[in-house]
Amino acid sequence: MDASNEYDLVIRGGTLVTAGDGFAADLAVRDGRIAAIGEALPAGREEIDAAGLLVLPGGVDAHCHIDEPPYGGAYLADDFRSASRSAACGGTTTIVPFANQLPGRPLRAAVEDYHRRAEGNALIDYAFHLIVSDPTTSLLGQELPALIEEGYTSFKVFMTYAGYQLEDPAILDLLALTRREGALLMVHAENGHCVHWQSQRLAAAGDTGLAAHGRAAPPLVEREATHRAIALAELAGARVLLVHVSSAEALEQIRWGQDRGLPVLAETCPQYLLSGQDDLEKPGWEAAKFLCSPPPRGADDAEALWRGLAQGAFQLASSDHCPYRLEGPEGKRSQGEELHFQKVPPGVPGLETRLPLLFHEGVQRGRLSLQQFVALTATNPARIYGLYPRKGGLAVGGDADIALWDPARRVTIRHADLHDACDYTPYEGREVEGWPVLTLSRGERVWERGEGERGRVSEAYGRGRFLARTRERAATAP
Ligand SMILES: [Zn+2]
Repeated sequence: MDASNEYDLVIRGGTLVTAGDGFAADLAVRDGRIAAIGEALPAGREEIDAAGLLVLPGGVDAHCHIDEPPYGGAYLADDFRSASRSAACGGTTTIVPFANQLPGRPLRAAVEDYHRRAEGNALIDYAFHLIVSDPTTSLLGQELPALIEEGYTSFKVFMTYAGYQLEDPAILDLLALTRREGALLMVHAENGHCVHWQSQRLAAAGDTGLAAHGRAAPPLVEREATHRAIALAELAGARVLLVHVSSAEALEQIRWGQDRGLPVLAETCPQYLLSGQDDLEKPGWEAAKFLCSPPPRGADDAEALWRGLAQGAFQLASSDHCPYRLEGPEGKRSQGEELHFQKVPPGVPGLETRLPLLFHEGVQRGRLSLQQFVALTATNPARIYGLYPRKGGLAVGGDADIALWDPARRVTIRHADLHDACDYTPYEGREVEGWPVLTLSRGERVWERGEGERGRVSEAYGRGRFLARTRERAATAP
């Protein structure tokens, strides 16, 4: 055989799983791409025996916070090195964090700054969403359309948070722009006025512990904002994507919109499926490990969210990785030692544990099929955010981004075995069945399970590439 036609790598005897299928086949890699899928493929320069293993598209984590500017004095623990390493060790091969516009600053400056943070550091490929906090006339007229053209095709806005909260007219302007430009608006849907009013009332009554976070932002503030975001999108004739949905009531609104035929997309995250208000009631700083916004709710909400995943109301399951360290003065304690729901910054880490948790709690417990698991964690995010078929599938010609998955591997999750730069996981001590044994990014081994629990991580920081994304030309159906 002509050496140039020889495969670099053949993964032999595994079960390939995509969003639509599962079948036994060999998979061959050449020049970083999937070159062939079939039976009894010719030998590669390197061979991997995948008997008993699943060959999955590498995960696409389309909601994570990495090395953003500090918020209220709190710094994210992960830079692109530690975050991309941690993602790779959990079977994720593409991350889409946020270039965050500081209020009053140009968005372009945020994007350029964010490229400087990523370049030379990422172990896997990455794209950027934008966060828009200050939609000026020039941002709407020139800056944002130019950035969309360059491949930053989605951006997030907040309906809450001082400094970031946008009012309805600004959100309508941005929705109309996404329709015109084929981009996608992501919305953090909580009614910030209600949260503020309720927080003041709780604080005045001395109800300031971390458990009050759930009372300051009850499901109705998410329900109202979710409904409003859908209505604004309907008025503007645009698609809308509700991020990190936490409650059954918000999910009802999403279904209501989808049942009317509106192009409403939605995401939820492991913390809303596996944590709850009872975790916020744990003693001392233990509760801070579960503090995120929106707050985790009750068991009934979690079960409703699982049904929403299984029934297709949600298209995405992302981590919303937001790593504030528990110890030291820069993270959860950045406002001091007081366990006050308005002082401890919200956010939980989850890049590395996202796929194993969803696999165990979803697939192993019969809530999701393997195909749904792949769709929610890899294929749909790639499709929705303009990375498919290069990422998120097992198509010949696509990048050889693969998680070789051992469905029988039992792991007790311990932060000491994870690879992020945070100092805890909310899932400490939880047992899961199913973990990757090898992660390939464009055909290169970025992580493999060695003898020790932490495995062997590639040192090739900087090999990860920026991905410019395509836009939605027919800006209608999800
Ligand atoms: Zn987030």
